[in-house]
Amino acid sequence: MTLLTVTGLTKSYAGADGELPVLAGIDLDIHEGEIVALLGKSGSGKSTLLRCLAGLIPPSSGTITYRGRPFKGANPGTTMVFQTFALLPWLTVQQNVEVGLETRGLPAAARREAALTAIDLIGLDGFESAYPKELSGGMRQRVGFARALVVEPDILLMDEPFSALDVLTAENLRGELLELWDSGTFPTKAIVVVTHNIEEAVLMADRVIVLGGRPYGSIRAAYDIPLTRPRDRDVPEFSKLIDTIYRTMTGRADTPHPPHGLRQPAKRTPANTPLPAASVDGLSGLAEILQRHDGHLDFAELTDELSLEVDDLLPLTDALELLGFAAVKGSQITLTDQGLAYSAADVQTSKQIFATAAIEVPLVHFITTSLRNSVDGSLRAGFFRDVLAHHYTSEQVTQQLDAATGWGRYAELYTYDTRHEEYHLDTVPS
Ligand code: ADP
Ligand code: MG
Repeated sequence: MTLLTVTGLTKSYAGADGELPVLAGIDLDIHEGEIVALLGKSGSGKSTLLRCLAGLIPPSSGTITYRGRPFKGANPGTTMVFQTFALLPWLTVQQNVEVGLETRGLPAAARREAALTAIDLIGLDGFESAYPKELSGGMRQRVGFARALVVEPDILLMDEPFSALDVLTAENLRGELLELWDSGTFPTKAIVVVTHNIEEAVLMADRVIVLGGRPYGSIRAAYDIPLTRPRDRDVPEFSKLIDTIYRTMTGRADTPHPPHGLRQPAKRTPANTPLPAASVDGLSGLAEILQRHDGHLDFAELTDELSLEVDDLLPLTDALELLGFAAVKGSQITLTDQGLAYSAADVQTSKQIFATAAIEVPLVHFITTSLRNSVDGSLRAGFFRDVLAHHYTSEQVTQQLDAATGWGRYAELYTYDTRHEEYHLDTVPS
């Protein structure tokens, strides 16, 4: 039985210079009985696709049907669990869970009973009258789950539900959820989970859909995961799947031509070229390690060498690539001549090489030229926040500015005054 059908979906957001395509050519079915993971790097359009499935935002074109029928507004077959819990702080656990039922017009007694069942199911027994602030992150997310499950939707949608939790809490909650699912007591018929973590996708899903981000989000590949749950990370099949999916995610597979009517962004802008969440120390460290290996490493060797998870490496390799310091091909990462020069040089020279590369990065360039064009070489952070807010969520804006601040500061292009929330040109023209 097919629960959701997505056909030819595109989604654009209005940008400063016209419509910016975020998703295009998405065809997808969600069937009864399956867990589907939507996997992709930050900015690849995962949340946008999930919000379209939920009916929280309309597609720009294409159709989504639930049990064969189109819907207007919210999708009646789905509820959503958010990364940031989104609980109402002035309501108790019990009341927060009942919020999920309010639009269904149930009498109070029935609401109460349904909420208690959901609370019990998700391991919140005894916390009914607690307020969110009294709860740990893991317990808060349980409330998020209970609120979504209380309406017993056909499809549970989850947007990075474990990524705000510490590793052990996340592991524990994920494990319990899968146990419930596999025991057949789960009150939904399908789960769609968004994640940027390859391992999480392979641990959970029956099917992993990989979204590629540039120049717009589209489905790069889909993988069936034939392993039985609970899954063992140490079996060869598991690592093999991780490896294959990793190649797909990092590979610069040729993106097909944009469908008719969608233009490819002509040049790199802060909107279409997000900065990866990488510090200068992090990317320099990786460049040094590559240099020690003759400028050339395989991702698998690299994760072994650093005992890092593949997902932790992505922002660093992306950063080196964006700066022109490395090239990624398949599962190989190679330092460019510029990257070699950068990592081999003394501190002052490498700073200069970094500055030359960083000024070509759209957001760093934008901040620098804006400051140069300002009256006194300084601008409030709010200015940049406002500009970026047209293209990013507020969390993404913060992450973009954090990265740009670190890069610009190291390159001695500009400084950031935290107290006054102001950017200053590093050398104010006299
Ligand atoms: P992901 O969840 O994979 O990180 P998103 O769906 O949040 O990706 O975002 C995909 C792209 O769409 C990003 O480039 C982002 O800047 C842009 N975007 C997301 N939400 C909005 C919005 N409300 N307005 C404009 N652009 C947006
Ligand atoms: Mg997202």
